[in-house]
Amino acid sequence: MIKPDFICTDKLLSRYSTLGIGGEADFFAKIESQARLLEALEFAKSEDLDTFIIGRGSNILFSDEGFRGLVLKIYMKRMHHFVPQDELSVEAGALVSAVVDLGMETGFTGFENFAGLPGTVGGAIYGNAGCFGSEFWERVRAAKFFDGKDFGEINLSEQPAPHSYRSSIFKEHPNWTIISASLKIEEADSKLVAKKVGEVVYQRSKKQPQVKSVGCIFENPVRDGKRVSAGKLIDETGLKGARIGNAEISPVHANFFVNLGGATANDFIELIKLARGRVFEKFKIVLKEEIIRVGVF
Ligand SMILES: Cc1cc2nc3c(=O)[nH]c(=O)nc-3n(C[C@H](O)[C@H](O)[C@H](O)COP(=O)(O)OP(=O)(O)OC[C@H]3O[C@@H](n4cnc5c(N)ncnc54)[C@H](O)[C@@H]3O)c2cc1C
Repeated sequence: MIKPDFICTDKLLSRYSTLGIGGEADFFAKIESQARLLEALEFAKSEDLDTFIIGRGSNILFSDEGFRGLVLKIYMKRMHHFVPQDELSVEAGALVSAVVDLGMETGFTGFENFAGLPGTVGGAIYGNAGCFGSEFWERVRAAKFFDGKDFGEINLSEQPAPHSYRSSIFKEHPNWTIISASLKIEEADSKLVAKKVGEVVYQRSKKQPQVKSVGCIFENPVRDGKRVSAGKLIDETGLKGARIGNAEISPVHANFFVNLGGATANDFIELIKLARGRVFEKFKIVLKEEIIRVGVF
């Protein structure tokens, strides 16, 4: 099949990760419609290319060597607020911050705790993003996807728990592309919504570094039946501020590893090994990565 014009070649992935790291993808496409998604997947199939879906790239560590295949950036962003119903229909590429902003503008509640989450709705559904005690799936009524052949829907009324801590059914099906979702909202006073959003943004600015990162590197592990903070465990090993190359364990929050400028994916991998090793030595706990590695490591 002839390559469609909207698919480009040799695209630097560092531009598509909040960490600013990553080599080139052989093929790359911004997916602005379902028709483009189908066309891009057909091209990948005809050329026998691996594919990888990204949203905002705020939870991804791209390899320094890039990706041998086609990266699809989901860019479908339309939102529809059903008034006076309690539902927001949103495409997967919409930023979570756009949902939060719409809540402040039009007066609905439900997403204030996700203020400052830099990803897309698709990424938040895939990894069941968790912020300030709320999990994204608490707000999902249904999610529509494309499995490479057919469209399908995960509906919470039929399938009560397709998610768990930082995970969802989509992690078991990496070839499913989330297209759109129906989210639960409740009407509320715009001013109160904006006040809550302001508080959450303030808390984030105090607790999280304002330097390039992909958020928390590790999941919070279970210890004696309870989730404990991975950041606290790393902190207790004395690693805050540790550096390899230009990657640093943030002095602000030890589960955030930051790119001080010019860090490589390998610097991050070495820092991950260091933190994991020290936490295991001290607490006999094996930390599991929350971030997604893409490409060859
Ligand atoms: C400063 C900062 C703060 C953060 N704070 C938090 C936080 O409080 N809580 C939290 O949980 N996370 C946090 N994160 C991590 C990150 O923002 C979330 O994991 C976010 O939900 C990822 O969304 P994304 O669009 O960037 O996904 P990406 O990073 O682009 O992708 C992540 C995964 O989702 C998959 N994916 C994305 N879109 C789709 C789709 N449409 N269909 C199928 N699969 C898809 C990708 O294939 C990949 O496996 C933070 C990150 C940063 C940089």
